[in-house]
Amino acid sequence: MRNKVLLIILDGLGDLPNSAMSGRTPLEEAATPFMDRLAREGATGTIDPYRRGLFPTSEDTHFSLFGYRVEEYQIGRGVFEALGLGVDLKEQDLAWRGNWATLDNSGSLVDRRAGRISASEELLADIKELTVDGIKFEIHPGTDHRMAIVARGSGLSRNLSDGYRRQVGVPPPLVTPLDKTEESVATARTVNRYLEKVQALLKDNPANRKRMADNLPPANYILIRGAGQLKKVPAFSEKWGRSAACVAGGHLYRGVAKLLGMQIVNVPGANAGVKTNLAGKLKTSLGLLEDNDFVFCHIKATDNLSHDRNCWGKAEFLSRIDHYLNDIFDLQNCLVVITGDHSTPCESGEHSNDPIPMLAWGAGVVKDQVSRFGEIFCREGGLGKLEQVRLMEKIAKMADGSTK
Ligand code: ZN
Ligand code: ZN
Repeated sequence: MRNKVLLIILDGLGDLPNSAMSGRTPLEEAATPFMDRLAREGATGTIDPYRRGLFPTSEDTHFSLFGYRVEEYQIGRGVFEALGLGVDLKEQDLAWRGNWATLDNSGSLVDRRAGRISASEELLADIKELTVDGIKFEIHPGTDHRMAIVARGSGLSRNLSDGYRRQVGVPPPLVTPLDKTEESVATARTVNRYLEKVQALLKDNPANRKRMADNLPPANYILIRGAGQLKKVPAFSEKWGRSAACVAGGHLYRGVAKLLGMQIVNVPGANAGVKTNLAGKLKTSLGLLEDNDFVFCHIKATDNLSHDRNCWGKAEFLSRIDHYLNDIFDLQNCLVVITGDHSTPCESGEHSNDPIPMLAWGAGVVKDQVSRFGEIFCREGGLGKLEQVRLMEKIAKMADGSTK
């Protein structure tokens, strides 16, 4: 019988010693009896996250942890966001992730999330679809202030700078071509015209007038970044010889799974926040092991709490996740791996290159001496230190180990 694999990714799991926690990390501080038991009965190690810029991003690290080389495919984040929102993308389309944002009267950025506004029909009325220079632009709203922007037409180039900057008090940057080709120059010009048109149409939008009357920041601009174009990527099932399903609330992660041909399964109440339906997500993931060789379960809020620098919240959330892991111990012929995509230390509130703790339990695992799950313990683990893109090889080796 073939061994199954359950991979649980806790986003931004890894952390550093926190001074508010007497030098322990949130994972070390959290009460996690089931994760500790999994570590005790299994093996642990650490993963070095993939990064190409200063810090690892969730899209790169997920692509990498499924065993794909980011450099080889170069898929912009916009593609994952759009796929995750269920957009039917074609290869010549361009996709970005977008944010509603607030500019003041002089055009300077005041709030890059427009008070975390959610899109409404009223707000979208004039701009949901716009055609500029023969290119059709669509807005696909996501959670809160997030959205995917898709441009459809021919001759589009993805080689563009972002129309996004965090810095407030200055105007957001225009999109510029990153090479001198006619396509890139023309695409940048059209995108800037589009953004200008969006800004003009949002200015007098009734939903924004109401927000201003209520002293709320109006959504009078859209910041775009992560331009990408769909590319054919070998399906996960072809690459690893395993049928795969995904349980995730965040659009980005659903998008990565969709691109890799995984079955995306919806769980009522599951989202990318702290109040997600943890019980439902884990129960569904375990159930999916019946018909799938590989199940990817993604939990996001560990990262959100880290960005909020809420170390106690992160520890508490980890304890809550732990609470639902009891049923794992009934699994047979299954390898369970729990790790993160990158570290997000609560003290800095930003992604980092620090090693990510990992545990493996069940089929094919050679037990080590580590008896608790935490950064400091995993460093001593028998799985050693893994490069992220090698994780799937290791998983396949363990899971297939007893049948080979
Ligand atoms: Zn992440
Ligand atoms: Zn993050």
